Amino acid sequence: MKKTLQKRLDTEYDRLKLLKTTFLGYPCDADFDYATIYRFLEFPINNVGDPFEPSTYRLQTKQFEREVLGFFARLLHLKEYWGYITNGGTEGNLYGMYAAREHFPQAPVLFSEHAHYSMKKNAHLLGLKTLIVKSAPNGEIDYADFEAKVRGLPEAIVVANIGTTMLGAIDKVPRLSRILAGHGVRSYIHADAALYGMVLPFVSKTLFDFRTKINSIAISGHKFVGSPIPCGIMLARKSAVEKLRTYIEYIDAHDSTLSGSRDAFTSLVFWYRIHTIGMRGFKKQVEYSVRLADFLVQELKRIGWPDVRQSYVTVAFKRPSERLVAKWELAAKDGTAHVICLPHETKAELRAFVRDLAADRKR
Ligand SMILES: *Cc1c(COP(=O)(O)O)cnc(C)c1O
Repeated sequence: MKKTLQKRLDTEYDRLKLLKTTFLGYPCDADFDYATIYRFLEFPINNVGDPFEPSTYRLQTKQFEREVLGFFARLLHLKEYWGYITNGGTEGNLYGMYAAREHFPQAPVLFSEHAHYSMKKNAHLLGLKTLIVKSAPNGEIDYADFEAKVRGLPEAIVVANIGTTMLGAIDKVPRLSRILAGHGVRSYIHADAALYGMVLPFVSKTLFDFRTKINSIAISGHKFVGSPIPCGIMLARKSAVEKLRTYIEYIDAHDSTLSGSRDAFTSLVFWYRIHTIGMRGFKKQVEYSVRLADFLVQELKRIGWPDVRQSYVTVAFKRPSERLVAKWELAAKDGTAHVICLPHETKAELRAFVRDLAADRKR
C-alpha cells in the first residue's frame, strides 16, 4: 500500500484509540478483544434468510447464530422461540412492531415519551397510528395516562421500555398487562431492552422477560455485550411470529428476516463473547458496572452537582458545558446528560471526569 494511504489509516487508528479513553456517554462497552476470530474476515460469509433453515449459501455461521439465540432464550425464560441476529436494537424493535401488526393490523401502537427515537420512525414505516403516552419524571411510563389511552380500544400494540435511553427507566410490564386485561383490550407487547436486557437478569428481580406477557424483545449486542460491529438479537414467542412466517412464506419460503443478506460475523462475536465470559462473567461485569455507577453518584453529590439520578448503570445529571459534553462524549438531551457505567470504565476515569466538572463550574 502507498505510504500516504498507510498514514491515513494510522492517523485514523490513533484518533479512535485516543477517543476510547473518554467514551462515557454511550451505552457501548469497549473492553473486548476479538483477535481470535479476525481470521473469519477472510470469507464472504452471509447468514441470508431464516437462521433455522439451511440455505444454498453455505458460507454462513447459522449454527453459531442458533446457539446465541438459545443462550438468550434461556436467559429470558423462553422455551418455544424464534429469532435472529439483527443489525441492532432498532431493527429488533421494528421486527417486533411488524409481528404485532400481523396480529392486529388496525391497532394503534402505544409507547411513552421517553421511548427511543426510532419508535416513531418504525411506526411510520409500518403505517401504524401512534399514541404517545406521558412519562413520569423518572422516565417510566405514566400508568394513569396509559390507562386513559387504552380504555375503549379493542386492540393495542404496546412497546414497553426496559431501560430508557436517557434515564434507564423501566416500564412495569405486569402492570401494563393488568391495565390492558382490566379493560378487555387484546394486545401484543414488545419489550425494548436494548441495554438493560443484558443488565437486569444479572442484578434485579424486575420481571420484564418471557415470564411476563411480552411477545417479543430486542436487545443490542454492541451495547452491554460489546462488539466492534453493531448487532442485536430479536427473540419472539414462536406462536407470536408463526403468522408472520406463514404470510412471508407465501412470498418466499426462506425470507423471514427484515434484511436479505445478513451479517454472519456478529454471530461469531456474540458466540465468542458468551463462551469466553459466560453467565457468571456477565454477572460480575454488571455488578462492577453498578458499583461504578454508585461511585459516580457519590462523587457527583460530593461536589454538589445538581439533578443526580441513578438507575442501575445509568447516571443522569444536569447537563454540563458543551465543551465537557463533547470531551466525554456524553449523550445529552435538553437539560440532562448521562454517563452509562460499563466494564471498560474505571473509577480513575470517573474521578477525572468529576474533577473536570468541578473545574468547569468554577470558570
Ligand atoms: C440504543 C437503544 C435503541 C436502539 O438500538 P440500536 O442498537 O442503536 O439500534 C433502542 N432503544 C433503547 C432504549 C436504546 O438505548
